[in-house]
Amino acid sequence: MFEKALPLLESYFGYRSFRTGQEHAIRAVLDGENTICVMPTGGGKSICYQIPALVLPGTTIVISPLISLMKDQVDTLLQVGIPATFINSSLSFREANQRMQDALQGKYKLLYIAPERLESSDFIEDLKNMEIPLVAVDEAHCISQWGHDFRPSYRHIQQMVHSLPQKPIVLALTATATPRVREDICSLLKIDEENTIITGFERVNLSFSVIKGQDRIKYLVDYIKKNEKEAGIIYAATRKNVDQLFERLRKENVNVARYHAGMGDDERAGEQERFLQDKASVMVATSAFGMGIDKSNIRYVLHFQLPKNMESYYQEAGRAGRDGLESECVLLHSSQDVQIQRFLIDQSSERNRIHAELEKLQQMVDYCHTENCLQEFILNYFGETETEPCGRCSNCTDDRTSIDVTKEAQMVMSCVIRMGQRFGKTLTAQVLTGSKNKKVTELGFDKLTTYGIMKDQGAKEVSDFIEFLISQELIAIEQGTYPTLYVSPKGKDILLGKHQVRRRESAKVKQVSNADP
Ligand code: ADP
Ligand code: ZN
Repeated sequence: MFEKALPLLESYFGYRSFRTGQEHAIRAVLDGENTICVMPTGGGKSICYQIPALVLPGTTIVISPLISLMKDQVDTLLQVGIPATFINSSLSFREANQRMQDALQGKYKLLYIAPERLESSDFIEDLKNMEIPLVAVDEAHCISQWGHDFRPSYRHIQQMVHSLPQKPIVLALTATATPRVREDICSLLKIDEENTIITGFERVNLSFSVIKGQDRIKYLVDYIKKNEKEAGIIYAATRKNVDQLFERLRKENVNVARYHAGMGDDERAGEQERFLQDKASVMVATSAFGMGIDKSNIRYVLHFQLPKNMESYYQEAGRAGRDGLESECVLLHSSQDVQIQRFLIDQSSERNRIHAELEKLQQMVDYCHTENCLQEFILNYFGETETEPCGRCSNCTDDRTSIDVTKEAQMVMSCVIRMGQRFGKTLTAQVLTGSKNKKVTELGFDKLTTYGIMKDQGAKEVSDFIEFLISQELIAIEQGTYPTLYVSPKGKDILLGKHQVRRRESAKVKQVSNADP
C-alpha cells in the first residue's frame, strides 16, 4: 500500500519526498502496526497520519488537545481538497451534531476531536457506527503522568479503541517523550515498543557548550562584546536575574531588550518588537520569552543559569540558528543553581509531580557534567539511539587528555556504601575530605575507613567529582525529601575492578597514593 503514499504526498501537499521518519511511520501504519512516532516540533508529524488517512478507506480519527491547532489543520486540509472537520467545545451543540451526522455518512477522510469527547457514551456509540481504520493520537505524552502535560481524558482513548467493532491501527505522536513517557504511551495504547520511530532531533548547525567554574558575568559580557553584531538571547532563571543582567548590559552599552512576565503587556510587546526587528541585538529574558517567536537569525542562545529540564533547554537553545547557519548554544553552569531549581520545583509543582521533576532536573545536571558529546547526550535523552559524536560541541572539541580516575571513583563509591547509601552529596564529600562537621561526628562517620581519604582536596572539588560519577551513571540518586546517593550496578562493576573510569585532565581529582578504598 505504501506505493500509493508518495503520489498522494505530491498531488495534495506538493512535497517531492518523505522525510525519513515519515516514511518509516507511514510504512508501519500501512502494515497495520500500532506505532509511536517521536519527532521534534516542525518535524512533520501530521503527514504521518494524513497520508495513511488518504490511503486507507473510511475516516481517520485524530485526537488533539489543542483547539486552535485543530482548526488550522482542518483549514489547511480543506484548502488542498481533503475532506476533514473537527468536533470540540468551540462548536454549538447543533453544529457538533451536524458534523457528526456527516461523519456517520462517511463524508470526511479525517475527523479531529478533543479528548474530552471520549467521555460521552453517545459519542462513542456514534463512533461505533463509522468505519475507522486509524486513530492518530497527537500530543500523546498527555496520556502519561510522567509527561509535562498530563490530561486524564487521554486515558479514555484505549477504551474507545477497544470498543470499536473493527480494531483500528493506533498511531501515537509526540515531540517530547522521555523513555519513561514512551513506555507509558506504549503500554496504555498497546503499542509494541519495537514500533517506536524517533528521528530528527539533531540540529547540525548548532554547537553546544557547557561552561563551568568561571565568573559568569564576566564571561557573559565578554561573550556579548565578541558577538556584538549578532542577535542573541540570554535566558535567566528569575525576573530579578533578568532585571539585573539587563541593567548590567545597558551599562556596558549593549543594545539590549528584556522580557519577563512581571512587566506590563505594552512594555513587553515593545521589547519583543525591538528584538524581532533587529533594533536590539540582545534579548535578556525568562523562559516566558520565545513561544511562537519566529526570528531566524539568532546566532546564539546563552543560558545564564541551569534550566529545569532537558526539554526546556533544547526548546530554548533550539531558537538559535533557525536559518540553518552556524550558531552557538552556551550553558553557564554553577552548582548553586541546582538548589534554586530544586526550590522552584518544590514551590511550583503539584505534590505527585515533584519526584518526576527532580529526576528531570538531575538529567539536566548530568548534561553539565558529562564528558561525552553534548549533542549526543541530547539525542539520547530524546531516545535517538543511532547517534555519533557531533565534533562541534565543547566536549568533542576538548583536546585535553583523559586520565584514569578509577581509584578515586572506588574511594567515593565505597564511602557511599559505608555510609549506608542514605545520605547526599554534601555529607559524602565532607566525610571523604575529613570534615569535622558536627553531623559527620554525630553519625560516627569519622570512624569510617574512608573518612578523610580525599582530604588533600576541597569539598567542592570532591562534590564536582561526585557529580561527574553521577553523570557517568556510576552513582545514582534517590529523590526523596533530600536526594540521597547509592551505587548503581554499573558502579558496583567499577568497585569490582571490571572497568576503568576516565576523566579529562584539568577536571581531575588529585592523585591519592597511600589510602586504599
Ligand atoms: P509537527 O506536527 O511535527 O510540528 P508539521 O506536521 O506541522 O510538524 O510540519 C512542519 C512543517 O514541515 C510544515 O510546514 C510542513 O509543510 C513541512 N513538511 C512536512 N513534511 C514535509 C516533507 N515531506 N517535505 C517538505 N516539507 C514537509
Ligand atoms: Zn559533540
